[in-house]
Amino acid sequence: MTVRTRIAPSPTGDPHVGTAFIALFNLAFARQHGGQFILRIEDTDQVRSNAESEKAIFDSLRWLGLDWDEGPDVGGDKGPYRQSERSEIYSDHIDMLLASGHAFKCYRTAAELDELRAIKKEAGGFSALKFSDLELPEDVVNKRALDDAPYVVRLHVPEEGVCTFKDMLRGDIDMDWNMVDCQVLMKSDGMPTYHLANVVDDHLMEITHVIRGEEWLSSAPKHQLLYKYFGWDMPELCHMPLLRNPDKSKLSKRKNPTSIMYYHRSGFMPEALLNYLGRMGWSMPDESEKFSRDEMFKNFDIQRVSLGGPIFDVEKLSWLNGQWLKELSEEEFIQRFMDWGVNKEFLQPVISHIQPRISTFSDVVPLAGFMLSGHPKISDADFAHKSLEQEQIVKVLQLGLWQLEAIRHWDKENIEQRLFALAKVMDVKIRDLLFPFFVAIAGTPASFSVLDSMAMIGPDLSRARVRNAVNLLGGVSKKAMKKLEKEYRGISQEIESVLS
Ligand code: GLU
Repeated sequence: MTVRTRIAPSPTGDPHVGTAFIALFNLAFARQHGGQFILRIEDTDQVRSNAESEKAIFDSLRWLGLDWDEGPDVGGDKGPYRQSERSEIYSDHIDMLLASGHAFKCYRTAAELDELRAIKKEAGGFSALKFSDLELPEDVVNKRALDDAPYVVRLHVPEEGVCTFKDMLRGDIDMDWNMVDCQVLMKSDGMPTYHLANVVDDHLMEITHVIRGEEWLSSAPKHQLLYKYFGWDMPELCHMPLLRNPDKSKLSKRKNPTSIMYYHRSGFMPEALLNYLGRMGWSMPDESEKFSRDEMFKNFDIQRVSLGGPIFDVEKLSWLNGQWLKELSEEEFIQRFMDWGVNKEFLQPVISHIQPRISTFSDVVPLAGFMLSGHPKISDADFAHKSLEQEQIVKVLQLGLWQLEAIRHWDKENIEQRLFALAKVMDVKIRDLLFPFFVAIAGTPASFSVLDSMAMIGPDLSRARVRNAVNLLGGVSKKAMKKLEKEYRGISQEIESVLS
């Protein structure tokens, strides 16, 4: 048997360090067994998936040295490797399940489902919806079918009993069927859900080991059932522990930058980030802290993964990065530094902003140094403004941050539209609204266009700097955050209408 593993990201946002972590362990396992590693794009969520995010996944995994043997951009004989190009395969498999009676069409309306859930909740116990809850009298089904009413296809799930499945790290796991819904496999728009597409693809792509995040453990019973209904062998399952913030909560961008590109733009070496991810829940047999990707692969043993949630701590990562940097020869250092930020590609867009403003070359670095920095050296005094109170500044930054997070295609025009619309809805002068962004991004209100600066330093570092500024100003308390979120929900519709 050839070992085949895969990473199956959804292209719906910034490429996450958690994706790189899982990719690394899949690749390590495949390489250790002389097998193959596949990249599959799970883009069945057509509203949230986008090409830009897909490209960012390719670029950032490649930057880290996590190369795949088969995938949408490199091909392979088990493709297509993008789920949006496999619709027919999924509908054929839905038909198979309907024909064998392992799945059923469910004509329940949203209102009926809410009511069913409420009844279950009131009765106490588990609230999973079963066939016995969902079933409609035959004449109602026929009538709805005749009326072309929308329906979903659901999986038949045992009403009771225990499901046992095997995890490579945990051994046998029991889960009560009571807790498992009759999972939707195909939505009313004909698109498959994650569960169906994932199982069908893993089988057809001959994946032998599914190494994925712990958050998918509860999906395992449904997947096992699907393999059984199709009459297929199930791949081995291995659920990796979730990365955590230093306070042990699930790794989140509010507390730690999570986008791989952030680490790239902040000047981390890919070898160091990969090395650090390799130490998340795993260690070399000799416990050495600094090791390369290939050293890890040579010594890899998945059984050495420990289940306690590994802490992703940027300070430790920075220390490790320093170790990598120190060991570069001067020659290599210069080359890597230039490749990172002192090159034509990076400088060209900056020049047109600084050239008109300087009289000597020695003015360049003071004026544009923030383009190559991590976080500018700022304090809360820098945010003092003639007409906006600190509280308002924090609010502008936080609402602005949400606006920046809503941008799919990161360019000056979109940044400008989003922030200008926010100013309009908040009834704040543009110049006042942009003031704290100047400080957060460039460290001073006297810099050149902050909109251009954000466009050039990219979404990850821009958002991280704004987030950093919010924290510097004392952050937003939990209570205030709830209030702000509510307010934002209220104004975001207005913003959308300004934008349209
Ligand atoms: N598309 C899923 C994700 O975004 C894949 C999960 C899996 O590996 O099965 O994480």
